[in-house]
Amino acid sequence: MTTMPQPATPDLPAFADVERAAARLKGIAIRTPVMTSRTADAMTGASLFFKCENLQRMGAFKFRGAYNAIASLPEATRQRGVIAFSSGNHAQGMALAGQLLGVPVTILMPKDAPVAKIEATRGYGAEVILFDRYSQDREALGRQVAAERGASLIPPFDHPDVIAGQGTAALELIEETGPLDLLLVCLGGGGLISGCALAAHALSPGVKVIGVEPEAGNDGQQSLRAGRIIKIEVPKTIADGAQTPALGQITFPLIQRDVADIVTVSDAELVAAMRFFAERMKLVVEPTGCLAAAAAFAAKTPVKGLRVGVIISGGNTDLASFCRLLAAA
Ligand SMILES: *Cc1c(COP(=O)(O)O)cnc(C)c1O
Repeated sequence: MTTMPQPATPDLPAFADVERAAARLKGIAIRTPVMTSRTADAMTGASLFFKCENLQRMGAFKFRGAYNAIASLPEATRQRGVIAFSSGNHAQGMALAGQLLGVPVTILMPKDAPVAKIEATRGYGAEVILFDRYSQDREALGRQVAAERGASLIPPFDHPDVIAGQGTAALELIEETGPLDLLLVCLGGGGLISGCALAAHALSPGVKVIGVEPEAGNDGQQSLRAGRIIKIEVPKTIADGAQTPALGQITFPLIQRDVADIVTVSDAELVAAMRFFAERMKLVVEPTGCLAAAAAFAAKTPVKGLRVGVIISGGNTDLASFCRLLAAA
């Protein structure tokens, strides 16, 4: 059975939005390579196609959604600037996108965020405002800064233009591979997977989209099974890009409609995948970026005999912790 998704409500982004995002990103985002590995295929009995977003500008797919969201703002709104809360890849994606579009970017980060991330974000020209996550109300601070500056808040996943931008990763992948049987995508808040699912169902009817989460942070899996958004404590996992406590109001209905299942992998399985990518494919992949591949390698969902797309979501890890993780395994 093919499931060509139709928007359930006017607020949900559709494949046409992903196509518009692709036009905006053309020549600006890197069309990242799709890599294959005979060893990975022999290990799994599948044909695996890895979409290497670790090689995207600023090191992760987040650039796609951030750029599309800022570029979609009306000109007058844009000039007043944009704001984001993030200590991770969304901060750097927003900072770089704002720099390229000539839009002022303010990033609110907890003051205990890694110095390297703060510096990288400033390096792309963003203003970083540090806050104390224990004593300050993040939302109130965000509203105050937004009101003072007339700036637009761009969330990391629960935004139609962010979702449409992220979906261009799967659009490019399937343009290159042709129809797939299965698409494996990691999820935190679900922006990447919901955008990729829009593209996948439109370009490869009958494809199954499966989400992958860290074992410790399986709120998406619980939510999909319960039929409502389940919120969990901030999970303890090396997959720091997937430490979100809950799916969003836009991503959840898209996931319910377009994602067949969500499976989980352990931190040890992530480290095994990091090692495989480094040794065999000469790729530096951050722990979160390994989620989808680890599900294929550990057979968390049947892949044998199938053509499988695997999104490698990012490669931002400092080498000291990368080496520590591999040495400990
Ligand atoms: C943000 C991020 C994710 C999770 O993306 P969502 O859209 O929140 O599901 C996965 N991997 C990396 C590298 C990220 O930066």
